[in-house]
Amino acid sequence: MVEVAKNEEDLIPTEKWLVSLRKDGKPFIRQFRAEGYYEAYDTVLTHIEKHRLEVLWFKEKRDCDHRYMNKNYPDLESVCVYCIAIFNETEPIPCYDENCNTKFCSKTCMKEHYKFRHKK
Ligand SMILES: [Zn+2]
Ligand SMILES: [Zn+2]
Repeated sequence: MVEVAKNEEDLIPTEKWLVSLRKDGKPFIRQFRAEGYYEAYDTVLTHIEKHRLEVLWFKEKRDCDHRYMNKNYPDLESVCVYCIAIFNETEPIPCYDENCNTKFCSKTCMKEHYKFRHKK
């Protein structure tokens, strides 16, 4: 699913959660939305099974330490706008264009998108 909504806060009333995951000994944090603990638990479990990750913890974002609260994390399942691959372990690559909100799985995808979309 590709999200195009600008004010996602207004459209999706569910809580933001943070999850700390680990892959090959390297920890990283992702955020996702869920309505309550059970949905969050389910989301995390399905995700780690699918991608063979280790989960360290997950928490509602508003209950997290302020150093987590004030940061924006990539989505648990980011979808590359260019190649439609789901990626989660690598940091999303934003478009060169400041007014473009799209994110990509790799620099290659971002450059291809840039060439087609923004270069005239
Ligand atoms: Zn891609
Ligand atoms: Zn762009």
